[in-house]
Amino acid sequence: MKIVVAVKHVVDYNIVPRVKQDGSDVEIAGVKMGINPFDEIAVEEALRLKEKGIAKEIIAVSIGADNSKDTLRHALAMGADRAVLIQAEGALEPLGVARLLKAVIDREQPELILLGKQAIDDDAGQTGQMLAALLGVGQGLFASQITLNGNEVEVQREVEGGSELVALQLPAVVTADLRLNEPRFIKLPNMMMAKKKPIETLVAAELGVDYAPRLSLQKVAEPAPRKPGVLVNSVAELVEKLRIEKVLA
Ligand code: AMP
Repeated sequence: MKIVVAVKHVVDYNIVPRVKQDGSDVEIAGVKMGINPFDEIAVEEALRLKEKGIAKEIIAVSIGADNSKDTLRHALAMGADRAVLIQAEGALEPLGVARLLKAVIDREQPELILLGKQAIDDDAGQTGQMLAALLGVGQGLFASQITLNGNEVEVQREVEGGSELVALQLPAVVTADLRLNEPRFIKLPNMMMAKKKPIETLVAAELGVDYAPRLSLQKVAEPAPRKPGVLVNSVAELVEKLRIEKVLA
């Protein structure tokens, strides 16, 4: 079985994002970036399927500027076999990304396509759904467990108030939720080896796909600062303060 895993290069999850002074976007110049955490979980799941002898080849695909190679190297260091960068400058939206991913999937013909449930930078949570629709295959979203059964994949899904078990015919698109697994720690020698592995580069504009954005970003603003907390000496004082706050609200 061949698995394609989509990995996005995003601002590191430990960084508190700052808005550019002109409010035009989030500042990413000089900011630490890394693999989208849900995509790291998707890579880990592909690796576990390979270690069980179910998958034979894992191909990591990223779409973006040249620095997305760092995220592809991360996937290679974890154990992915090959990496493909689709070079695209400027803003990308889920529909454009799904169309570009489809171009690689049409070529590679994988049985399983793994994505993260959402990218932590734009929080869209749309690409997996759109990709499945474009490919005309089933989608198992927010997976917390994946079981391969011959030509079928069973996906335990995290849904409102519980979980749901769905069975999909392969090929299928599955998006990883937080509880699917805990990604492995990358050892330094693997990191060094990944630096030497080749990364195939395709140019988005040459793939015959319309990936132009449909939205224009108007403004980005910091959330309003939180009011400082107040220490109270007793429950009675707390109740009194809450009553005043409610009257004033
Ligand atoms: P989103 O719909 O933007 O929240 O992204 C959902 C998932 O789609 C991510 O977790 C990735 O697996 C994949 N994805 C989104 N954008 C990209 C990108 N530029 N390159 C590779 N994968 C992406």
